[in-house]
Amino acid sequence: MSTADSRITVATAWLDGCSGCHMSFLDMDERLVELARQINIVYSPLVDTKELPASVDLGILEGSVSNDHDVTTAKAFRKHCKQLISLGDCAVNGNVPAMRNAFKLDAVIERAYRENVDVNPQIPVDGVPRLRQVVLPLHGVVEVDLYVPGCPPPADAIYYVLSELIAGRTPEPNQLTRFGA
Ligand code: SF4
Repeated sequence: MSTADSRITVATAWLDGCSGCHMSFLDMDERLVELARQINIVYSPLVDTKELPASVDLGILEGSVSNDHDVTTAKAFRKHCKQLISLGDCAVNGNVPAMRNAFKLDAVIERAYRENVDVNPQIPVDGVPRLRQVVLPLHGVVEVDLYVPGCPPPADAIYYVLSELIAGRTPEPNQLTRFGA
């Protein structure tokens, strides 16, 4: 797991999530300075790079799989990342986005885009990814190597996982409970 500059390359993205898991990543605070010497974030909402590199050591995905774009992103991460982390409850079990699974998709769309809208209610047809009938956790569409639960996962849990991977060890899922994940 190394690049020419020996740092681990990391890619992150959010699917159907609130970005809170990424905010928890930033909550590692001063430890980010230490991590920056060991990981190289090559693609992420946190950096400017707009294309996922062909080969990345570690992929981290937040959010559930709710629309066609989420599926495309999840499959791209699985294809290009040697290891893939499912970060946060939305990715791990569907969490909040999956609450719509109790209703028919047409009813959900009607509620969101017409019933609850005061000004110019309309259902978007262009430029919006097609919603899937059922929201799935990340492992519902691609194989996942590591799960980091929590809403959001505590920064300490994220730091533990990254530290173990940097050290060449496999993080112990049981250890995550130490951090409240
Ligand atoms: Fe947001 Fe919680 Fe979902 Fe993370 S797990 S994207 S914090 S709702």
